[in-house]
Amino acid sequence: MKPKNQFRHQTYFYWKHGCDIRSVSRKTKKCIIGTKMSKRKLKERLAAVTVTQNKYPEPATLSDEFCPKCGCDATRHTANMAPYPEVWIQAFCARCGFLVGMADNSPWQYALEFPEYNYELD
Ligand SMILES: [Zn+2]
Repeated sequence: MKPKNQFRHQTYFYWKHGCDIRSVSRKTKKCIIGTKMSKRKLKERLAAVTVTQNKYPEPATLSDEFCPKCGCDATRHTANMAPYPEVWIQAFCARCGFLVGMADNSPWQYALEFPEYNYELD
């Protein structure tokens, strides 16, 4: 795709539609999040993730970051939803809205760190 077109898709998505993937055209959607990953590929990608725990307060290091439900890379972050100095930030998958990461007065947590809880953070 031409860089100029890609830029237009991105502005349309980020500025005009507040990162809401459901309200943009199919072409823009394809540009931002691409086509959906197949189940088999997603399983392989999930199996290939390695998590390295770091010393507090550093967040864990992941070899790959994506949505564990659909394999999509794009995320939508909320702003800090608690008054300073509290921290409460969440990141959602741009395609399916799955909670992929959050910080709640804690180091950043990735859903990918918790396969034993079915990747659910709450
Ligand atoms: Zn997703």
